[in-house]
Amino acid sequence: MADVAEQRVEETGEPDGLERLWTPHRMTYITGVDRPEGGYEQPAGCPFCQAPGRSGAETLVVARGELVFAVLNLYPYNPGHLLICPYRHVADYTELTEDETVELAAFTRTAMRVVRTVSRPHGFNLGMNQGSVAGAGIAAHLHQHVVPRWGGDANFMPIVGRTKVLPQLLTDTRIMLSDAWPAA
Ligand SMILES: [Zn+2]
Repeated sequence: MADVAEQRVEETGEPDGLERLWTPHRMTYITGVDRPEGGYEQPAGCPFCQAPGRSGAETLVVARGELVFAVLNLYPYNPGHLLICPYRHVADYTELTEDETVELAAFTRTAMRVVRTVSRPHGFNLGMNQGSVAGAGIAAHLHQHVVPRWGGDANFMPIVGRTKVLPQLLTDTRIMLSDAWPAA
């Protein structure tokens, strides 16, 4: 696990507080500490292009489709916060092909069903931030957020303001969701 933890730190910087966690309403990357080389608009190494190539203990990919995949957010707002991404490096929703659009929608629905099975959330936030100005962390590669919500979770977060999201917890979450994901 140490290797995984080190790798994550190397890739993303040490998550060090609430201000570094992703939320739908506050930008995570304000501090710029883990700003990718080349910036968010044109990152030198796109994490969503790299994610499908990882395997074993390194991967946060929950499910792989033909044109899109589901991956855990490294900066989850809540446990089970998934991102549905096309494999293709495209930024804008209008750039998706019809087939990508259909599979992205299907994966979003499956993600909801899987997370409901595993952790019984009370609701979800679904959505895409288009462009840095709209809050997209990695604006260059489209990603649809699937965020499970529980009553009171928004109030809970500030209380645990210094809580770190540990790579081990993400790996455990990934395995649970991946096991619950229906075979294609
Ligand atoms: Zn990309």
